Amino acid sequence: MAVLCRLIRARPITSYTVRTFCSPYSTSSPPSSPEIGAISPSLASTKTSDGRNVQWVFLGCPGVGKGTYASRLSKLLGVPHIATGDLVRDELNTKGPLASQLSEIVNQGKLVSDHFIINLLSKRLEVGEAKGESGFILDGFPRTIRQAEILEGVTNIDLVINLKLREEALLAKCLGRRTCSQCGGNYNVACIDIKADDENPAMFMPPLLPPPHCASKLVTRSDDTEHVVKERLRIYNEKSRPVEVFYRKQGKLLEFDLPGGISESWTKLLQVLNLDDHEDKRSAAA
Ligand code: AMP
Repeated sequence: MAVLCRLIRARPITSYTVRTFCSPYSTSSPPSSPEIGAISPSLASTKTSDGRNVQWVFLGCPGVGKGTYASRLSKLLGVPHIATGDLVRDELNTKGPLASQLSEIVNQGKLVSDHFIINLLSKRLEVGEAKGESGFILDGFPRTIRQAEILEGVTNIDLVINLKLREEALLAKCLGRRTCSQCGGNYNVACIDIKADDENPAMFMPPLLPPPHCASKLVTRSDDTEHVVKERLRIYNEKSRPVEVFYRKQGKLLEFDLPGGISESWTKLLQVLNLDDHEDKRSAAA
């Protein structure tokens, strides 16, 4: 843990516009304006009092879209997006001595050991530190209470965004996920169109289709099969739900119900976080 401790450091930068950053209210019943709400001191700014970059965490079930929104926020805030699932897949691709053991665990939808994942994350942070990175948006970590406690012991997490989506959409989204084997672009061929019922509004999430030059090179993650996704959802409920409770108790959890597809959800997420995406506005205006 010493490595994590040494690496998670403060360094000031910012390349985004922050309006007054408000409370960790649930988007299930948002106040009429994002500016209204009880301000939690720990969340009142996207820069800490010592001027270091944000240290945020994304929580949420498999398929909810953590990677999509974490990656967009990381570009906007100028901090690295670190997805522990990607670190595990990189490790698998090295075909090193642990690869076959690791692939068995991942392909069964199980979690790798806390010790192993912390080692991988430590190494990633070490490489980042050497390149001058500071701050982070973690995606897929922590996933157990033990991981959350270890992280808590070595650094201060400013904000935890808990992405939420109805279970029927989660399975469809995992099964529709595709990656271009050449450029690494992420797409989703699922078209989610759920009718309203007595408790929930209708939900429409259009597919995110690849451009023609990627279409013939799409691959599916080996753990995105129906059986394995169901197991990953079960494990999330068993091991990772308590992590939501852990951060809720600390007043760091921002509950965010995805309202629909990426464009609608991104706009709403920025609004809730009180951030401006100048690039997004420019491209929308073009
Ligand atoms: P993901 O891409 O986040 O769905 O992660 C893919 C797989 O990597 C998971 O199903 C786990 O086997 C492993 N993994 C990723 N992050 C963690 C973590 N924090 N703790 C344990 N296992 C992890």
